[in-house]
Amino acid sequence: MRLILIVFVLALLMGCFNPVQNPIESLSLEEIHDQISLSETKQILYTLAADSMKGRDTKNGGFAKAADFVTSYFESNNIRPFYPNYRDSLQIDGVISYNLVGQIGDFDPTKKTVLLGAHLDHIGINPQKGDSIYNGANDNAAGTTAVLQISRFLASYDWDQNILIALFAEEEKGLKGAYHLAERMKNDHINLNYMVNFEMIGTVLTSGTNQVYITGFERSNMADVMNSIVPNFVQFLPEAKEFNLFKRSDNYAFYEKMNIPAQTLSSFDFKNFDYYHQAGDEPHQLDIENMNQIVRTAAFILAKMIHQKDTIEGYPEFE
Ligand SMILES: [Zn+2]
Repeated sequence: MRLILIVFVLALLMGCFNPVQNPIESLSLEEIHDQISLSETKQILYTLAADSMKGRDTKNGGFAKAADFVTSYFESNNIRPFYPNYRDSLQIDGVISYNLVGQIGDFDPTKKTVLLGAHLDHIGINPQKGDSIYNGANDNAAGTTAVLQISRFLASYDWDQNILIALFAEEEKGLKGAYHLAERMKNDHINLNYMVNFEMIGTVLTSGTNQVYITGFERSNMADVMNSIVPNFVQFLPEAKEFNLFKRSDNYAFYEKMNIPAQTLSSFDFKNFDYYHQAGDEPHQLDIENMNQIVRTAAFILAKMIHQKDTIEGYPEFE
């Protein structure tokens, strides 16, 4: 009995004095190299942008195929369903569509939540054109690839904040999937800290390699926080402000419905890609090596932000 007591006390003491170190603390950007490989970036991108995915449109069944790929990626990489079968379903033009939502680790409703997302859908097939399939490699197989690789990386660690991963449906039809999910999360009182969205990261930003810009740059301290972890990664793009890109991707639904900092990272700057919403938006047009660097850097930054429990501050004067 006494021996059991001693062992118990010893175990308790060891628990106090020898806490499990989170390896994120000592992790360097270089060490992510193997965990977010170029070959996997290529493989996911080419899979999602293949002709067999039919431009990832709901009505022609292409979106469901892409969603099946995402679902099995989640299942085999320890990303658990946040909703049954990962699906947050909505109706669009009489057809059922669905966002896919996964979670990393357990979900504790008392803790703050970080949401990462990208839209999975694209604009389908136009039978009037020669090359009729709109593969949407940059828009947004690229962003989806980033979110999948980052979530696999994050799922290999323990976190003290909730991390949710969303691949949105029906972005191209007016952010419909994101609005549906934002409304649902609002009603369910999900305590979102901030949301980071990925869009079109397949080409090199004109200002330099391994860089992105953020939409709504001056609306929060998100860019400052990210650049304090990796200097110069996040740029200000004047055109993003001029064309109000802040309101043109899924981040906006979360900003509007939940009043949280929600912003998009992108490298499409209007000078570096000629195939926006064209059938020629195919994987061989992209700089996949640079894209892989962006994914790695973003993964590293997000890991540090979540580990440090950074709070992103929204600046209401820019509302
Ligand atoms: Zn897009």
